[in-house]
Amino acid sequence: MGVDRFDVAVVGAGFGGLAAALRLAELGARVVVHERLVYPGGCAGTFERQGYAFAAGATVAGGFGPGQPFDRWTREHQLRIASTRTDPHTELRWDGGRLPTDGDRERFVERFGDAGHSWFARQTAVADRTWPFFEQPGLLPPLDGRGVLAHLRRLPSTLGLVPLLGRTAGSLLPPDAPTALRLWVDAGCRISVQCAADEAEAVFALSALDWWWRGVAHVRGGTGALAWALVEALRRLGVEVRFADRVRSLRPEGDGWRLSARSGEVGARRVIANLLPADLARLLGHGTKTLDRADNAVRTGWGAVMLYAVVREPEGATPGPTHLQLVDDPTAPLVDGNHAFVSVSARSDGFAPEGLRTMTISTHADLRSWPEGEGRAERVAAIQERMRGLVARHAPEWSTWTLTLPASPRTFERFVGRGGWVGGVPLRAGRWPLAGAFHRPVAPGLWRVGDAVFPGQSILSTTVGGQRVAEAAARGWLQAERSSTSRWPERRAFVAR
Ligand SMILES: Cc1cc2nc3c(=O)[nH]c(=O)nc-3n(C[C@H](O)[C@H](O)[C@H](O)COP(=O)(O)OP(=O)(O)OC[C@H]3O[C@@H](n4cnc5c(N)ncnc54)[C@H](O)[C@@H]3O)c2cc1C
Repeated sequence: MGVDRFDVAVVGAGFGGLAAALRLAELGARVVVHERLVYPGGCAGTFERQGYAFAAGATVAGGFGPGQPFDRWTREHQLRIASTRTDPHTELRWDGGRLPTDGDRERFVERFGDAGHSWFARQTAVADRTWPFFEQPGLLPPLDGRGVLAHLRRLPSTLGLVPLLGRTAGSLLPPDAPTALRLWVDAGCRISVQCAADEAEAVFALSALDWWWRGVAHVRGGTGALAWALVEALRRLGVEVRFADRVRSLRPEGDGWRLSARSGEVGARRVIANLLPADLARLLGHGTKTLDRADNAVRTGWGAVMLYAVVREPEGATPGPTHLQLVDDPTAPLVDGNHAFVSVSARSDGFAPEGLRTMTISTHADLRSWPEGEGRAERVAAIQERMRGLVARHAPEWSTWTLTLPASPRTFERFVGRGGWVGGVPLRAGRWPLAGAFHRPVAPGLWRVGDAVFPGQSILSTTVGGQRVAEAAARGWLQAERSSTSRWPERRAFVAR
């Protein structure tokens, strides 16, 4: 059988893989992307069942602010997407109250009075110092001369972060913080840095909580439409994107790699694996020290228990998307159905016929304490029952369901194409916030991208991480060979302003 040859093979069309492929294609590489499903986006993809479309996991995309990746690529690669700001972005509901996260930050902060002012002043100050890292990946190591200069200029303000190292986000809340603020911080930490506020690394958590006001948007057709727009951009750059093309094995060959995929054999000088560490180890047929360490870190995280539903649109519903964070017991950990993130599709997404919408409901599940076999199915069913109850109690307007598709961590795997572990590595206090910022290959020519790689979980983070890994993989190789022929000069954002 013949072998197709490429400079780079990307395994997986999640946002990490798509972003890496785009950057490598910009640099002039001949790239192939293998995706085992028939659609891109992975955890942020959109799948179809019984004539309806559902967001598999992610529903809100960051990265549309000025200069951020999707804003830049919309112009540079003519991404065919329609994105709109939402307001409110989401609403937190619990027995004691309701709290919308307003599109306007100041309006939101005003809701908390004096208690909010001082807390949000500190939170904003931290976010203002850290967000440039997301927007200008060249500020992260390894730094060039301009990066070092930019850091020297920022040194006084960066030093202001030092006293926060080792602290948790929860410890920075005033003792008399109102329940609404405490719960908003806790729920925000849970969905961003993947742990409770009382564990969350303060610098990362305070930065992540600013996400809502830093270029978040609703993409018409869901985040899956954004992934498809990237696939189209890749194809325009000559990248081959192969769907229903699971990679079955990966082995070193000469100075590169040989992939055995459903569509045949592929040889590539570099491989970018958009996989969790354990999934990559399976492809290699063995673990490595780096992969085992990364896998242990992933196992400090979570699985997702999901519910997908078709719901009758209530009278007076706004046409846009609705995102709710529902809490059962505000004093208990926000896991295992005690907290659910509920997203209702927008009318314009076209996910369901007129008068109906589709819903994606998720909760974090602590897989470490899960029983095996029958017991596991019972646990999943109990969590889903609690999620149903949460919607019935706190969002009754969205509880007239005409169809439900429950999904356990195992069935979730079918929709997103990866093991039960989701959501990246929790950033608990005590971890150095820049841990993993120096991207290193797993083996010569073999790199990992995705939410278990710095800077972690979310569409924006995996996109930023994917670009950075692509830069690292190309360094000293592709750039030297191709820079004279590439129509993409060194990306402007890669150079620190
Ligand atoms: C329930 C839930 C809700 C979330 N909500 C949000 C949100 O609202 N906003 C947000 O920004 N983030 C959200 N996230 C996080 C975000 O979705 C993820 O961090 C991000 O999408 C993960 O991207 P990734 O690059 O790691 O790739 P993945 O999404 O893991 O994609 C990997 C891809 O690789 C493919 N693949 C796997 N094995 C193979 C193989 N052998 N051969 C070929 N292809 C293979 C898979 O099919 C998949 O498409 C959410 C996550 C979950 C679980």
